[in-house]
Amino acid sequence: MTKKYSSSIFIILLFFLSVVTMHCDASAAFSLTEKIPYSDFKKLIQENKLEEVIINPTTIKGILRPEEGQKIKNSITTVKIEDPDLIKELTAHNVKYSATTNGGWSQGLFFLWFVPMIIFLIVMTRMRRGATGAGLMSIGKSRANLYVDKETGVTFDDVAGVDEAKEELKEVIDYLQNPQKYQRLGGKIPKGVLLVGPTGTGKTLLAKAVAGEAKVPFFTIGGSGFVEMFVGVGAARVRDLFAQAQEKAPCIIFIDEIDALGKVRAASPISGGHEERENTLNQLLLEMDGFDTRKGVILMAATNRPEILDPALLRPGRFDRHILVDRPDIKGREDILKVHCKNVKLGKDVDIKIIAARTPGFVGADLANVVNEAALLATRVGKEEVGMDSFEEAINRLVAGLEKKKRVMSKREQEIIAYHESGHALVAESVPGADKVHRISIIPRGISALGYTLQLPTEDRYLLTRSELLDRLAVLLGGRVAEELKFHEISTGAQNDLERATDIAMSMVREYGMSEKLGPMTFQNGRRQQFLDIGYRTGRELSEEVSKDIDNEVKKIIFDTHARVKGILEENKDRLETLAKLLLEKEVIEGEELRKIISEIAPTPKKTPSF
Ligand code: ADP
Ligand code: ZN
Repeated sequence: MTKKYSSSIFIILLFFLSVVTMHCDASAAFSLTEKIPYSDFKKLIQENKLEEVIINPTTIKGILRPEEGQKIKNSITTVKIEDPDLIKELTAHNVKYSATTNGGWSQGLFFLWFVPMIIFLIVMTRMRRGATGAGLMSIGKSRANLYVDKETGVTFDDVAGVDEAKEELKEVIDYLQNPQKYQRLGGKIPKGVLLVGPTGTGKTLLAKAVAGEAKVPFFTIGGSGFVEMFVGVGAARVRDLFAQAQEKAPCIIFIDEIDALGKVRAASPISGGHEERENTLNQLLLEMDGFDTRKGVILMAATNRPEILDPALLRPGRFDRHILVDRPDIKGREDILKVHCKNVKLGKDVDIKIIAARTPGFVGADLANVVNEAALLATRVGKEEVGMDSFEEAINRLVAGLEKKKRVMSKREQEIIAYHESGHALVAESVPGADKVHRISIIPRGISALGYTLQLPTEDRYLLTRSELLDRLAVLLGGRVAEELKFHEISTGAQNDLERATDIAMSMVREYGMSEKLGPMTFQNGRRQQFLDIGYRTGRELSEEVSKDIDNEVKKIIFDTHARVKGILEENKDRLETLAKLLLEKEVIEGEELRKIISEIAPTPKKTPSF
């Protein structure tokens, strides 16, 4: 560590030295240097304004006499012209003069230093702006955490609530433990495993645990660690990393936040540091293609933004295995809390189940924080044990912060989402043409969706009938209508549903000829083709009247379906209540359980229609 630290100090010193030893020629460049015609230069001599002149083979530099109180001397340059009388004139006007024979060289030297200096400054400012906030010293720092070449000591017992991911990673462990077995059988092992999921869900921890379970070395670097470096260093580091790893095989290379490095190329051609990132990425791709899995090197990477990754990274033979590491459900949170409470002296009143129930939306890192904070709070007031009150306070403190960061939802939001998703699910189970519900969840999935209702088709479908399309439309509107019925108010959460619903209705009218009024005709120059329109229209121009008819038909389909869904959910009002409450409590309900609830609760009798 100290060695690395001092080497970065050395680099900095080198740069400062370079500034000092720079030829005075260059230092003058930092005052004002104006380029002027030779004739003006002569005039300056005549007017006694020049103090000193330095004659280069091709240029002449003049330093102006400072005016009263002026500290920095201004200077001028001019292109040298054959002028035999110059020296005489300079002497006559008392101007000091000298010449350099190496003018070109000194200017070359100037650029030799100046260019790296600029780069250095850019790198420094970028580092200072960097997320680490460690400023100057992060040069040394990123070097320090470049490779952790040791056994991690982390095992699967340290990672909880991600059972599916663990299951998928077992194969990798097995392989690392005896690569020969796989070679003999000719089995194909993935080169690259991409862990996808929100920050703090334990992706790094999982990667370490894989190394720990397999008892192999773990090499790691952050994606940004490659990039925020001097030019050319990123690519060199990649090479270095792979060379070292191959020597120590079997082992794991882990790249955290690979999106920092692997963003889609040429997305923003002018942004700074872009080319450097591309070079580094290209080197990574090259190394990935070059290394032989049979040696037992497995590459793992983590990202919370898979959608921005360069497709080249995801191609077969690269990161072609993707593992979702999602937010934990209530049971998962309980398990994670248990892991982190292992070394904490808990009070008798502490019920980890209750803590898990009180922390929906929290990821592993947040839960580790809860335990930590609770222990600190208890210590601060001099308690012997960490009691439930400390946990309560810790949760309250963290929730406030996380809500602000939009990481977790408020109670009210959760309630709305529970009813919304229940609405989708109940409609899906009530109409004949929709896919059966596989799972409902109010745990935010991935990064964008708040909750979700997962439907699985029971068979592959190539054709959909009109009534099936209408049923799908109904399911999409189910969320929104449930909100209306329960809260007499609607939220923005249904935006994506409505978009998709409108798309279906539009397609029915425009593409499938499913509108009674317009008949079996298509009106193809609709929204889809407008994307391709480059200044002219490809399809038929629609008359204003037809356009209006289309709009009206689309509206009619949506409104009719809305009324239908309202009817369905009014009949399911009791089920909706039960389901939503259970969902709030359990956060996840499987399809089987949902159908059981439906079968156990009688439909709500119809009132006279209120619409
Ligand atoms: P990520 O890489 O997904 O951002 P990390 O692996 O860095 O998340 O998690 C940070 C810390 O949070 C871990 O060191 C661990 O203490 C805690 N943590 C996160 N997820 C889990 C989990 N599933 N089980 C136990 N602890 C976890
Ligand atoms: Zn929805």
